[in-house]
Amino acid sequence: VPEAVALPESAAEVAEILRLAGEAGFPVVPRGAGTATTGAPLASQGGLVLSLAKMDRILEINTEDLVAVVEPGVVNGVFRRAVEERGLFYPPDPASFEFSTLGGNVATCAGGPKGLKYGVTKDYVLGLEVVLPTGEVVFCGRRTIKGVVGYDLVHLFVGSEGTLGVITKIVFKLLPKPSAQATLLVGFAALEQAVKGFASLLSQGLLPATAELLDEVTIQAVGHFLEEEIKAQALLLLEFDGGDKQVQEDLEKAHEVLKAQSLFVEHALEAEARERLWRARRNVSPALKRLAPGKLADDVVVSRSRLVPLLRFIKEAAARSGLQVACFGHLGDGNVHVNILYDPSREQAQAQALREEILAQVLALSGTISGEHGIGLTKRAYLPRELPPPVVALMRQMKDLFDPQGILNPGKIF
Ligand SMILES: Cc1cc2nc3c(=O)[nH]c(=O)nc-3n(C[C@H](O)[C@H](O)[C@H](O)COP(=O)(O)OP(=O)(O)OC[C@H]3O[C@@H](n4cnc5c(N)ncnc54)[C@H](O)[C@@H]3O)c2cc1C
Repeated sequence: VPEAVALPESAAEVAEILRLAGEAGFPVVPRGAGTATTGAPLASQGGLVLSLAKMDRILEINTEDLVAVVEPGVVNGVFRRAVEERGLFYPPDPASFEFSTLGGNVATCAGGPKGLKYGVTKDYVLGLEVVLPTGEVVFCGRRTIKGVVGYDLVHLFVGSEGTLGVITKIVFKLLPKPSAQATLLVGFAALEQAVKGFASLLSQGLLPATAELLDEVTIQAVGHFLEEEIKAQALLLLEFDGGDKQVQEDLEKAHEVLKAQSLFVEHALEAEARERLWRARRNVSPALKRLAPGKLADDVVVSRSRLVPLLRFIKEAAARSGLQVACFGHLGDGNVHVNILYDPSREQAQAQALREEILAQVLALSGTISGEHGIGLTKRAYLPRELPPPVVALMRQMKDLFDPQGILNPGKIF
């Protein structure tokens, strides 16, 4: 619980608050919608929570330049719909898009199901207005697609989890809106077959915008939650987008490639029917909550070719420990959400040991411990396992350079 909350309405007010914090020496924790899963927007050392909720205006959507300028408190879903009304498209779509803010998305470099084809938040940030911990307001980057003038400070702020500056304005790149979308739900008899099926789509020249995977534990949880029988050991949710003709061709080709390898392939082209195919994926979080009172959640990434060995390792380690592990996530970019389900009153140590084992294996496979959720508080201990000491030292020096008094979101990342 923070000692105070401020809801500034302008960069000038944010600057005043940071100057005051510098003089009086209290921590300031920037906060969007508070949906981070790592404790990053918590006032863990007390002080002030600086909510950007009131800075929620879309300042410009430019259909000629394909650029938008927004304040950080705009909710992702509100922004997506506003640009789509103008025939444009903002691809980064974290599953939290209906409530997380664009400022929070930038500060965590949020990813989403469309990552494979369209990349993640960082790929759409052209420029940022940032209030530095000293109270100075700076603009980094530009509003042009290209530009190589000096160091790329924009992408230093992206993903910095509110530790280097408070983002008060964002210039985003946009794309033209695809005219058609098709969704496919494919059931497989084994997880390995789903991964293989997806690889064969790529090798046939198909590039889905989305490829979401659900494993057996997740499917059972969702089936129970929705009171539906899902007859598959692995589910693959695919989406193709583009021009009408292209999407139709992709759809036909995907059916052709997958039909021999899978248990069933269903598809839909209209929005409502497509949303029905998303039902299982959309209900994963509430369904898993019902399975166990505790959940240790990680969002690890390995190259797609190493996914099967990783998933096999997780299943074997889970069986050894006697705990259930649900894996789901963005197969397209190798980003798996690993959820260890346990009872905190008696299985804390077991769950922690299993987590350690899985993260070590991810690093042994040259993967990364976080694809999109970041480090925050809950993964601080693991950062030095992935990054070599000179790199951590350089990062700490950067933090000191931007925030010499250590007032901005202290205790996060390191
Ligand atoms: C159900 C659910 C599904 C999710 N799905 C995804 C997913 O698919 N992909 C994904 O990437 N994440 C996902 N997340 C995690 C989370 O939604 C994202 O990290 C999101 O980007 C956080 O946005 P927020 O507005 O809630 O920010 P917060 O949680 O409030 O803050 C996150 C971090 O950003 C900093 N911050 C916030 N605003 C600013 C600002 N203006 N300036 C500087 N720093 C700032 C905070 O200090 C904190 O460090 C999910 C979370 C939930 C609960």
